[in-house]
Amino acid sequence: MRRPLLVANWKMNMTCAQAVAYLNEFLPEIENFSAVDVVICPPFTALRSVSTFLEYEKSPVMLGSQNIHWEEKGAFTGEISAEMLTELRVGWAIVGHSERRRYFGETDESVAKRAAAAVRAGITPIVCVGESLEEREDGRTAEVIQTQTLSALNAIRDAGGGTFALAYEPVWAIGTGRAAVPEQANDVTRHMRALVGTVFSPEVAREVRILYGGSVDADNIADFLNEPDIDGALVGGASLSARHFSQLVRIAS
Ligand code: PEP
Repeated sequence: MRRPLLVANWKMNMTCAQAVAYLNEFLPEIENFSAVDVVICPPFTALRSVSTFLEYEKSPVMLGSQNIHWEEKGAFTGEISAEMLTELRVGWAIVGHSERRRYFGETDESVAKRAAAAVRAGITPIVCVGESLEEREDGRTAEVIQTQTLSALNAIRDAGGGTFALAYEPVWAIGTGRAAVPEQANDVTRHMRALVGTVFSPEVAREVRILYGGSVDADNIADFLNEPDIDGALVGGASLSARHFSQLVRIAS
């Protein structure tokens, strides 16, 4: 049984004060919904406040970062290391988000190195893959997904394996209000699961959690979660309101 997993990607939103106000509203709302794993990924500046708050409240909500660097330390201005994250009890890290690929020059190679660094540190990477609209219209979705996914999976395997999650996020669906058709998203996540089977084993493929991301909201989340190879959601816009995100947790439960 794969437990549903909902991941909030706050992106470049939320000051420390706003994050604490959010948690004050959010945590009581989801208290009774223990059947779902919830991860919140604030910006780096709010990680410490959120970590302290979650620990103080003894909350089961987990903490994630929006990136992680592959080197342990050094002259990498603007980056964050695994040790800096684990010190704050960060257990998850989004890697390869399409906004990182598109605006900050992330490549399959750098994403793979970040994913490997995460597993080496005992942090669960959430590896994001997804095709652009142009790639989709050219009929290249399967090829793009396969290349991006295998690159990260091979790096994770070469780093010794460990727990990881995958997220299928079609670029054209992110922040557009135009979510994928759930059955079509499931075709892609089923393909991704098969790739996990080839790089690791059928057991790992059965256990790995694969999320869908792209304009998930209260109206469509159930349709995605009802698909056999979609185990949860990576949520951007709808995670910025405690009321909306707690509604998604409730529906997922
Ligand atoms: C995301 O940024 O990962 C995302 C899925 O955003 P949104 O839910 O806003 O489409």
